[in-house]
This record gives sequence, structure tokens and C-alpha cells, in this order.
Amino acid sequence: VGGFRLGRVLGVEVRVDYSWFIICFLILWSFTSGVFPARAPGLPRAIYVAMGIGGAILFFASLLGHELSHAIVARRKGIPVEGITLFIFGGIAHTRSEAQTPGDEFQIAGIGPVTSLLIALVLGGLWYAGANAGWPAALLIVLEYIAALNVALAVFNLLPGFPLDGGRIFRSLVWKATGSLTRATKWATRSGQGLAYALIAWGIWLAVGGDLVSGIWLVFIGWFLRNAAVASMRQLTWRDSLITGSARQAMTPVPETVPAALSVQQLVEDYFQRRRFVSYAVEDAGRPVGIVTVDQVKAIPPDTWPTMRVRDAMAPATADLVVAPEENMIAVIEKLRRSPVQRVLVLHNGELEGIITVGDVNDWLGKMRASAPRR
Ligand SMILES: [Zn+2]
Repeated sequence: VGGFRLGRVLGVEVRVDYSWFIICFLILWSFTSGVFPARAPGLPRAIYVAMGIGGAILFFASLLGHELSHAIVARRKGIPVEGITLFIFGGIAHTRSEAQTPGDEFQIAGIGPVTSLLIALVLGGLWYAGANAGWPAALLIVLEYIAALNVALAVFNLLPGFPLDGGRIFRSLVWKATGSLTRATKWATRSGQGLAYALIAWGIWLAVGGDLVSGIWLVFIGWFLRNAAVASMRQLTWRDSLITGSARQAMTPVPETVPAALSVQQLVEDYFQRRRFVSYAVEDAGRPVGIVTVDQVKAIPPDTWPTMRVRDAMAPATADLVVAPEENMIAVIEKLRRSPVQRVLVLHNGELEGIITVGDVNDWLGKMRASAPRR
């Protein structure tokens, strides 16, 4: 992702995506030459520029406050937060995992709109105090306008379409009621897509009616939301197949084995040079004891091949190299990732049932994708 690091706020890393400059420019431009001159006519140009810059800073600080509140509550619920990114459509708090319970999800999502409303209240309070204390009109107008924008931000985020906060709140309620995160996500992403198409239709309506800028903007936001909703659903489908899929589904069953007492020389001549496999499960007295691969053998000096036994060249079948047939695919992938031979053995009661390579996992994922229902 393109962008740069802005700094850390309350222990949370804040990044800015390059697309953010577009919205930053649009906001500065619309504040200084549209919004503020319309609300306070007849002021010098320099005042509008100052109002625009001050307003933009307040607005982006408000957005940051909104995302920070998500990040802080998520962290308190034990979910690691990678940071916040400001981009063209606002901000995103990146968490490394999803909420574990509907209650956590409800609180993590709900705090965002609450924070925006609190910011609106503080700015509104300042505006009220300032109006009574005779602060300059330019300052009061900025406070009032950014307070109103924060209310709009809270309301927009409460729309019940995933991945907006309102969609997450909706999802947490369905999750709580049905006990199924999958079903809840389906409902919330569907309503997210519906909301996205409604925004696109509204944008087209506005554009046709002559308000081209707002119209195009709404179409863009709707299109972004639609993509985000579809991506969330796809991610969930993957997660589902990884959790429900087991080692047995992905493995190559009854793999060929070589005896542990065989010399490496024989292994090369009788197996690697004669057959298409680049790895074998190793057996000793009928029990699986390890995996030997052509890469391991290549790393051994050829003059030691005649005297060295396969058992001394192989990767032994320690707990890290072995999975049970029922083990879920997340655990299998985790072990594959750490395996020095990029393979794991599937054992059942000490008997060899299969072997899993990275290629097996890819094939299995491809099959899962092909059979996943289209939504
Ligand atoms: Zn939010």
C-alpha cells in the first residue's frame, strides 16, 4: 500500500495513504472557496484560507479521533491493532483479527459514532461559549461547521451496511440473536451492498439533476462500500473453509515410503532418479519416522551418499512435522509454514495416512473456491 507514516498517537501508528491528498485538496478547496464564503460573506480572502486550513485540520483530527476510539477499544478487547490509515474515503483502523464475541464487536463498532457525537458536543460547546464571549465570527463559523460535520459523520457511519460501523453493529445484533457469525456477516454484507447501490443510484440522480460533484462523489463512495462488502464476504468464506476444512481433505493419501535404513546413494538411484516424486515419507519397521526431500539430499556431499543412511539425512517426524487427519487447515498451514521441508505428515494412531505439501494446499483451496456458492 502506498503511503507514509505520520507518527504514533496513544501508541497507535498513524499512516497516510497517497489517495488522502486528493480528499485533503478537495476539502481545502471546498472550504476556502465554497463553504465558508457562503456562510460568512464579505471577509478578506486570507481569512477564508485560514478558516479553510483550520477547518480541514479540525476535520481530519475528528476523523482520527473516531478511528482512534475504535483502535483503543479493540486493543482493550485483546485484539492487536496494526494502526490507522487515513485515505480518500476517511480512515480505517486495521486490526489483526475480528472480535471474539458479539458484545465486543458491538462496543468496538459503537464507540466510533459515539466519539464523533462527543467531538460534535465539545465543538458545539466551544461555539456556544465563544458566541457568548464575543469570539470572531470566522472562528465561530468553523467550530459550528465542523461540529455539524461530526454529526453527519456519526449518522453516515450508523447506516446499517457492513463494513460501516452501523453494519458492524447490525452484524453483532444478528450474531447475538442467531449465534452464527457467518449468517450475521451474510446479512450485514448484503445490506451493505444494498446501501452501496442506493448511494450509487442517489449519486447518479444528483449528477443528472446538475449537482455533478456531489453526485460523482456519492457514486465513488457507494462503489467503494460495495467492494468492501464483497471483500468482507469473500474473506469470511475463505476463513470458513479454512476452519471447517481438515488435513484429510487436502492430503495426498497413502504416499510412497522409503526405508530409514536405505543408503542415500540408493535413495538417489532407486527413487529420485527413477520416479517423479521429490520427497518421500520415511518408514522404520513399518512406522513413519520422517520426511526426506531431494533438496536435503542435494545439500549433502555426494561422496558420503554410499555410507549415509536415509534416517540421518531426513527431517525427523517431530510434533511440528505431523498433523492429525482431523486437524483444521489453519493449523496445517501454520505447521507447513514452519516446516523446514515444506511438507507435513498426516498420522493417525501412529500410522501414515498421507502427506501434505504447499501444492496440495493450493489445489485444495482452488477446489474450495470452485465449489463455494456464488453470492
Ligand atoms: Zn467507524
